[in-house]
Amino acid sequence: MRAPETATDLRFPASASLREARALLARAFAEAGLDAPALEARRLLSAATRLSEEDQLRDPARELSADQRDTLWAFAIRRLNREPLGRIVGTRSFYGLDIRLGDQTLEPRDDSEILVTTALERIAGKRSPRILDAGTGSGCLLLALLANAPGAWGMGIDVSAGAIATARDNAMRLGFGDRAAFAVGDWLSGVAGRFDLIVANPPYVRRGDIAGLAPEVSRFDPRGALDGGIDGLDHYRVLVPQALECLAAGGVLVLEIGADQADMVGALVSAAGLEDVVCVRDLGGRDRVLTARGPDCDAAYDKNPLGMLTRSR
Ligand code: GLN
Repeated sequence: MRAPETATDLRFPASASLREARALLARAFAEAGLDAPALEARRLLSAATRLSEEDQLRDPARELSADQRDTLWAFAIRRLNREPLGRIVGTRSFYGLDIRLGDQTLEPRDDSEILVTTALERIAGKRSPRILDAGTGSGCLLLALLANAPGAWGMGIDVSAGAIATARDNAMRLGFGDRAAFAVGDWLSGVAGRFDLIVANPPYVRRGDIAGLAPEVSRFDPRGALDGGIDGLDHYRVLVPQALECLAAGGVLVLEIGADQADMVGALVSAAGLEDVVCVRDLGGRDRVLTARGPDCDAAYDKNPLGMLTRSR
């Protein structure tokens, strides 16, 4: 870990201007091999000085106060130790929403935005859809859906009480308090009710692969939000059959999957009795999302009339 050496280089001179501090930071980040050093330097500088990026550009010669230098230095060391930027500054943008993170929540990924877009397409035209987000974490999927489906109402479930507290806080802060409810639960085992859309980004990383992920992920995301068991599919095996029981007639299940899991998760989804299984790629061209439809009322009734009656609530 090279952070301790770099730390000494990062002691900004007492008269450091915004421009100098930003350049120093960007250089240290580039040397440490971070992907977007200039962008991250700007964002950390904003967080430490509480000046917007526009203000930084307008007045680049402005000197940092001693407090701002100390804060920036502490932030920079954390980033050089590979803590994700969003965890350092406290929020992460997801689908245009500022999502607060907690130590029990996965940091939302840009890659997951395609899940939101896909789910919104599947419920387009549906009035007042009821949405269930299984393993909601920070609440990011549910809140992004509610933000873009004005008549929708939703519920987020997570096994972690800490995650539920974070999700609830996000919902209140972003103005969705009256359209979102949250509860602690083990996948959908405690859920009674039917939903038009069920979304989930379950832990799907093969246990043996976790240590090899980027340090931002392996060291800072909660392990429970990543670990999908030996083959990565443990949570789909539990969740998918439960989802079928919680889908309203013709309701849609939209799952995030790992890039090499489309066939295996697709097979689980079909075996559970869902139909129209479709795989959607992310912007990087990797398989990222599976969608499927629950049987509509008549089909389910034809196949299993008694089952249908006992399931209806
Ligand atoms: N996309 C995450 C990663 O590989 C994994 C998230 C998950 O397991 N749901 O970094």
